[in-house]
Amino acid sequence: MQMQPWFAEEEKKAICEYMDEGGFLTEFKRTEKFEQMIAEYTGAKHSIVVNNGTISLTLAAMAVGIEAGDEVIVPNYTMIATPNSVKMFDAVPVFVDVEPETLCLDIEKVKNAITAKTKAIMLVSANGRYPKSGIKAFEDLCKEKNIILIEDSAQSLGSFYPDGRHIGTAGLVGSFSFSAPKIISTGQGGALITNDDEVANKIRRLKDFGRSGGGNDIHDSIGFNFKFTELQACIGIEQMKKLQQRVVRKKEIFELYTKLLKDVKEVKFFEQDLSCTTPWFYDTTVENREELQKFLKENNIGTRVMYGPINKQVAYNVEGEHEVSNMIGQKGLWLPSTTQLTDDEIKYICSKIIEFYKGL
Ligand SMILES: *Cc1c(COP(=O)(O)O)cnc(C)c1O
Repeated sequence: MQMQPWFAEEEKKAICEYMDEGGFLTEFKRTEKFEQMIAEYTGAKHSIVVNNGTISLTLAAMAVGIEAGDEVIVPNYTMIATPNSVKMFDAVPVFVDVEPETLCLDIEKVKNAITAKTKAIMLVSANGRYPKSGIKAFEDLCKEKNIILIEDSAQSLGSFYPDGRHIGTAGLVGSFSFSAPKIISTGQGGALITNDDEVANKIRRLKDFGRSGGGNDIHDSIGFNFKFTELQACIGIEQMKKLQQRVVRKKEIFELYTKLLKDVKEVKFFEQDLSCTTPWFYDTTVENREELQKFLKENNIGTRVMYGPINKQVAYNVEGEHEVSNMIGQKGLWLPSTTQLTDDEIKYICSKIIEFYKGL
């Protein structure tokens, strides 16, 4: 399997304990605790959990004032959720190519894509990486052009900028996902972080019917229902306790992969700064991708083709050639990336990759 969530006795016990207490299951104390743990870990003032890491982006965009017709710059290489999150309310995602070294937005290309309608940039920290141009360059650009910076940091829990800030805290709002493949999971789930009291307050209302206070039925704004559940929070709390050890293991796995494959010229890794970022998946570009994937599958090794260029997805079909995302669409491959991988398994995987290219 290329990726597998990791739950154990602790999660099971936490759920049983909660059920023995007899709660309402809907979000309450456990959810608050989970939110607090995320806020503490990331250093953000506020953390708000929601159903998933897509609706979190939609709520982030709505809370900062993006409306139908506004343009939002998004990378042409990302999970489809990034652009779809603003499509939800008819804002317009504008696709911009990414840097070849990091697969994060290319700031020079961002500058060329800014128009009078540009309201925000959704910066995706691809696989925990930050743009080579530096986060400061994005913060400065946004300030200069009066554009809001939103961080889709779905892949970046456990990753920091070199200046020590957790990824997701540089933007006005940052978003995380706890879907099954992410570094920690609650099955489904998402979290928003922000240091802005007003934005936090807006998000809380948007996710709870626009209620002006907990449990009342007084509504002075429109809101919906994107609330969490205590069962997910029970799991989330236990997963947060395991985050740091996963961060360490993810980095060890990356080091072992890159060491064992360093002489294989057909497999290239991206620039991952292990001093502060945590690779979530092991992303590579490879030659003869289809054959390699087939060969590995025959040897019981699961891999996954990386995201193709979004502008060419039938759902969008926007004209334009974006060199880097096009290349990833042809060569990008995720190697097995579960945190549970043992050193022996990684050695086996790498030996099979080496065997494949020797046989060509
Ligand atoms: C996983 C992911 C999402 C979506 O999160 P869900 O919780 O699955 O909705 C959004 N953006 C990026 C970059 C992701 O990797």
